[in-house]
Amino acid sequence: MNVISMKRDHVVRATAANGTIRAFAVYSRGLVEDARRMHDLSRTATAALGRTLTAAVMMGTMMKGDKDALSIVFNGDGSLGNITATAKADGSVKGYVGNPQASLPSKVGEKLRVGDVVGKGTLRIIYDLAMREPYSGVVEIQSGEIADDIAYYLTSSDQIPSAVSLGVLLNEDSTVREAGGFIVQLMDGATDETAALLEERVAALPSMTTMLTEGETPESILERLLGDMDLQVLEDKPVEFRCDCTRERTLKLLSLVSKDELQSMVDEGEDVEMVCAFCNSKYLYTPEEIAGLMEE
Ligand SMILES: [Zn+2]
Repeated sequence: MNVISMKRDHVVRATAANGTIRAFAVYSRGLVEDARRMHDLSRTATAALGRTLTAAVMMGTMMKGDKDALSIVFNGDGSLGNITATAKADGSVKGYVGNPQASLPSKVGEKLRVGDVVGKGTLRIIYDLAMREPYSGVVEIQSGEIADDIAYYLTSSDQIPSAVSLGVLLNEDSTVREAGGFIVQLMDGATDETAALLEERVAALPSMTTMLTEGETPESILERLLGDMDLQVLEDKPVEFRCDCTRERTLKLLSLVSKDELQSMVDEGEDVEMVCAFCNSKYLYTPEEIAGLMEE
């Protein structure tokens, strides 16, 4: 029998154990494939950025306001360069890596190791919430395998004990076969019994890619973890890779360039191309527009 999969990208936000557990699970195959195609990512880079986008889109739903944004930035010294992912509460996420072609040898079907291309350095998470100054927390990169690092950040910097699982599985032709993840967190007031049971459940779960390959969904994964712990689904919404760049806003980025450099662009008299780092959209500006920017 042929089963046609119509799985859509979506995130589920839930609580359990009287609100002392907070949980998020996401199916993200489509958005990781969009990122791979947009940035022409190597297999290793697809795994690294895909896992980061998957975590970011879940963490985006932790925020309240539609304009609130959260960015995850891995600043490692490996060949991949920085990994940046920005998510909003509305379910959109965007991101990029410094070197999309960075790669390590891997076999199809094997878990892609990314720690060596991420390298050593810092993981920073920046919260940009409406009505207040942006703030951020920073920790040292642990393994560089992304999920471990995010869990370490949430547990040590945000001081919320957290388990994070992220998975990206690729086809032989390097397209994305499956992607998804979950985050479960122990909130204030959780009993020792709840903590112990949750730890046991998380440890007993197969890897994310195994579960997705076997047809598990965000709903069924949360059910496995928390089904008998008063699981309450609070929200279920679509997620997608979406960049909010515009021609105008991208031009504004040029104001970061020094006056001298802008002047030489104007003097050369040729159109200037700007590329959005997040989505690779290209924008062309005339020397007149550049001169106008200098006057501002
Ligand atoms: Zn863009």
